[in-house]
Amino acid sequence: MSRLVIVGGSDAGISAGLRARQTDPSVEPLLVVADAYPNFSICGIPYHVSGEVPDWRSLAHRTRDELQTAGLQLLLDTRARRIDPDSRLVIVTAADGREQRLPYDNLVFGTGATPVRPPIKGLDRLGPADNVHLLHTMGDTFALTESLARGPSTALIIGAGYIGLEMAEALTLRGLEVTVVEQLAQVLGTLDIELARLVEDELIRHGVQVRTGTTVTGLTTTRDGLRIAARGPDALPVTLAAELVLVVVGVRPDTVLARTAGAGLGQAGAIAVDRHMRTSVPHVFAAGDCAHTYHRLLDDNVYLPLGSTAHKQGHIAGENAAGGDTRFAGAVGTQVVKVFDLVAARTGLRDRGCDSAVAQLTDRLHACGRPQGVLPGR
Ligand SMILES: Cc1cc2nc3c(=O)[nH]c(=O)nc-3n(C[C@H](O)[C@H](O)[C@H](O)COP(=O)(O)OP(=O)(O)OC[C@H]3O[C@@H](n4cnc5c(N)ncnc54)[C@H](O)[C@@H]3O)c2cc1C
Repeated sequence: MSRLVIVGGSDAGISAGLRARQTDPSVEPLLVVADAYPNFSICGIPYHVSGEVPDWRSLAHRTRDELQTAGLQLLLDTRARRIDPDSRLVIVTAADGREQRLPYDNLVFGTGATPVRPPIKGLDRLGPADNVHLLHTMGDTFALTESLARGPSTALIIGAGYIGLEMAEALTLRGLEVTVVEQLAQVLGTLDIELARLVEDELIRHGVQVRTGTTVTGLTTTRDGLRIAARGPDALPVTLAAELVLVVVGVRPDTVLARTAGAGLGQAGAIAVDRHMRTSVPHVFAAGDCAHTYHRLLDDNVYLPLGSTAHKQGHIAGENAAGGDTRFAGAVGTQVVKVFDLVAARTGLRDRGCDSAVAQLTDRLHACGRPQGVLPGR
């Protein structure tokens, strides 16, 4: 029986474990998970905060018992600290400080990403006790709902990506007055501007104040709440106030563990993988937000941290780690987000950057002798 260790118990890790079992039922994947919430829907957090999913337990795709019945062994509240690739060992520490050395034949990294802390003066000194939040884990969610229970009436969200906008809707539904501040000139920077304007109108129609072209530079606490210093579109200083601040400006890949194994890094500092989801270290695979993603249209790797991609990559990593031979077909940049009564969807390349991508691709196809217009991977 081959020993498969998976680090991470979210979209990528669980998908890898389940697929490994399907591929070879004699494999008993052991999942090392830093927190106590395996297989929770992180994507569902805004709907718990809004009150639409009242019980946080309902965010679990599967219960622990269901995961164990499916053949996955779980080591919860246990952090993998180090990999010794020569002896094929994962060194882990349990919550009580106990260290264990876990042997593996194959290993999958599904360590995800960590939220970006933008360079805002004062942010490093403030946290949940001051009603200042990042949002990425169930722990962050509990901290935010605790702050909301203290009854703030205004919230300011830094970042108008899809999480910022889903949270603008969630907090509005909870009765807060919400302001969204975005340094780009539009909300949802992944959309073409015409579509982004429709989304912005929808936010405003529901009472959300939207300040694009505005960069938050400082955060301080006052007797009445939080004071937010910013620079507006005309570079003039702006001062805003709110009782709660949410910082959601993107994520960066969590590669701390992978680096201890000597795994090579790729796009945006994410773990470099081939289309079998193999890292540069023998017998070690990676999937999800910690790894880069092959983009079919660009015929290149990009960093695309999405649950849908994490799930698919985990499936490939799990199958190959259990002795299969399958390739990730690639992503095409599909994203869908609901903002109040509007659903914005995109796929493929945007207007901006499309011309240069097509030119690069055409050059590459010529260089490798393929006829013009034939997409890679077809
Ligand atoms: C509020 C919110 C809404 C979102 N909505 C959507 C959406 O609508 N659609 C979509 O596609 N995506 C969405 N996403 C993104 C999506 O949740 C992530 O892309 C997805 O969770 C990535 O899965 P993952 O398994 O790669 O990593 P993560 O979910 O980040 O999980 C990482 C796992 O690794 C564990 N871990 C990390 N380091 C260690 C270690 N050293 N030892 C042991 N365990 C470790 C963690 O405990 C965790 O179990 C959303 C994200 C957020 C925060």
